[in-house]
Amino acid sequence: MDYIKNVDPEIYAVIKNELKRQQDNLELIASENFTSEAVLEAQGSVLTNKYAEGYPGARWYGGCENVDEAEKLAIERARELFGAEHVNVQAHSGTQANMAVYFAALNLHDRVLAMDLACGGHLTHGHPHSFSGMFYNVLGYGVDKKSEVLDYAKILELAKKHKPRLILAGASAYPRKIDFKEFRKICDKVGAYLFVDMAHIAGLVAAGIHPSPVPYADFVTSTTHKTLRGPRGGFVLCKKEFAKKIDALIFPGIQGGPLMHVIAAKAVAFKEAQGVKFRNYQRQIVKNSRALASALAQKDFRIVSGGTDTHLMLVDLAAKGITGKDASKILGEVGITVNKNLIPFDKKSPATTSGIRLGTAAVTTRGMKEFHMRQIAQFIHEAIESSDGAEKLNQIKSKVLILTRRFSLYPGLLQEK
Ligand code: PLP
Repeated sequence: MDYIKNVDPEIYAVIKNELKRQQDNLELIASENFTSEAVLEAQGSVLTNKYAEGYPGARWYGGCENVDEAEKLAIERARELFGAEHVNVQAHSGTQANMAVYFAALNLHDRVLAMDLACGGHLTHGHPHSFSGMFYNVLGYGVDKKSEVLDYAKILELAKKHKPRLILAGASAYPRKIDFKEFRKICDKVGAYLFVDMAHIAGLVAAGIHPSPVPYADFVTSTTHKTLRGPRGGFVLCKKEFAKKIDALIFPGIQGGPLMHVIAAKAVAFKEAQGVKFRNYQRQIVKNSRALASALAQKDFRIVSGGTDTHLMLVDLAAKGITGKDASKILGEVGITVNKNLIPFDKKSPATTSGIRLGTAAVTTRGMKEFHMRQIAQFIHEAIESSDGAEKLNQIKSKVLILTRRFSLYPGLLQEK
């Protein structure tokens, strides 16, 4: 980092401070992770200099022979990892991957059935301020009020009633396995496309820990930076018949030049995801998630749906007499980073919420195990119980720091010479 330190000390300070924040805090935001140094290197490489509009072997610019190789590797590795018929790795983000699918499958104002945002869906699954809600007629399905899990009979009933052209499965805050085979059956009964957004669970799917949507879905999208642990970005998998349409919609439909440095970093992440180490890592994420959920339940925190099958859980704080907004602020003060989150049938607004969402992908990357999850549950319990005691909060913060210091993160980065 010598160059940036000399050229732009202010941005150097920002990066240094952010590294320290990542090192010192317990990162429990379910959509975040820590990439490998190899991914960081690829993303910080000279590939950022290259314009490469088009696709490998068919570019609008000269000099693409090297970036072509990077993109071909990314495509091949993703194809092997997920068994997809067609792969597009150019989407700059999960939102753009989703946009390409909507544009490829639908006409403006077509009807879509997607997971309700209030029950765990994502903004791109129909929020009125997202392109999805502006351009399409999106209806929501939720979870069962009592069990808080997906009710496939109810989804079928809604599908029969509303005859959507596309059904979207996948979520940002759903802790249980999703039955993609069941979704396929529903789609077949009403003649709808099946579109799965596996952004959150892509790492679990790659490792075979969550069932894959690929055999059942017409379109699958994902981000690369959550459980998959790659650079920030997106990709699309689809059946061969939609390949040309998806490619044309990503470029020139909704994007210009692909980010070749990010595509190279995606290729590195896909390679990392093929190994045994990655499979064990994903297994440990779920073990940790279950350990954290059950340790919190023992301290009388209500876990939505009674537990988790994935990397994340939703914690209902209503009985603790604190909002998600206030809890996330207090936890932030002791060095535990979480986000406030609506729980199903929440009586509070999205800005306040009754819940928080916790995920274990990032702390598992640091090497933490079930024992540490029990410690984290204790910290969360103590912080929430002593929300107005500055001294107690300081003590918890010190304990968080003792824990995080034991699990080094990027030890070689930004060492002062
Ligand atoms: N889809 C789901 C299910 C997500 O959770 C997210 C992000 O949190 C996205 C899509 C959007 O990804 P991005 O932030 O890269 O646009």
